[in-house]
Amino acid sequence: MSKFIVGLTGGIGSGKTTVANLFADLGIVLVDADVVARQVVEPGQPALTEIATHFGLQMLQADGSLNRPLLRERIFSDGAAKSWLDQLLHPLIRQQMLLQLQNAGSPYALLVAPLLIENGLTRVVDQLLVVDIQPETQILRTSLRDKVSQQQVAAIMASQCDRQQRLQLADQIINNDQDAAALPEKVRQLHQVYLALAAEKLAKSLT
Ligand code: ATP
Repeated sequence: MSKFIVGLTGGIGSGKTTVANLFADLGIVLVDADVVARQVVEPGQPALTEIATHFGLQMLQADGSLNRPLLRERIFSDGAAKSWLDQLLHPLIRQQMLLQLQNAGSPYALLVAPLLIENGLTRVVDQLLVVDIQPETQILRTSLRDKVSQQQVAAIMASQCDRQQRLQLADQIINNDQDAAALPEKVRQLHQVYLALAAEKLAKSLT
């Protein structure tokens, strides 16, 4: 029996975490792609050993954990290194995310991933929820939160999936231009929709 999975995505600083936390408040299990990406390279994980073997022991800190800044620097300047790392990590991250989603103890599970569309994860979700926001608000909120320039935020946005493409793929859209106080009610309504769809999927799988 496969779990009903809702994908939650949106551009940088659109409000994914804010929205995801409201689903968590309703008892829904979240699987965050960024968290899983860190878990697969924790000390003791085979991928960390492979990275150290491939790039050298300098990729490990004194406590045995990954030297992220050094690895980031290496793949930034070396396309072959980046594709080697992607080929190692992407399948592992995907496998681990799916495992956690399937083991979720809630009627449906939420996959929170900034690059859900870019990484071809639309295939693994039953419904796609997009958090949408006007680009001007997005730039302002993100630059305030991360204390970076508006130009830096705009550059990251340009490297992400196009807003129109994201909206076209969405099954549901939460607009997050307004005050955050409007969000809980929107999430409660969507929660009812997903509970009904998840129950439908479960009933079908039992017939
Ligand atoms: P990232 O892609 O960087 O992980 P995100 O999509 O998870 O970001 P959040 O961190 O949830 O976005 O929100 C970005 C910033 O905007 C945060 O500082 C958050 O508190 C704020 N924020 C979110 N929604 C609203 C809102 N409706 N009104 C005002 N501020 C908001």
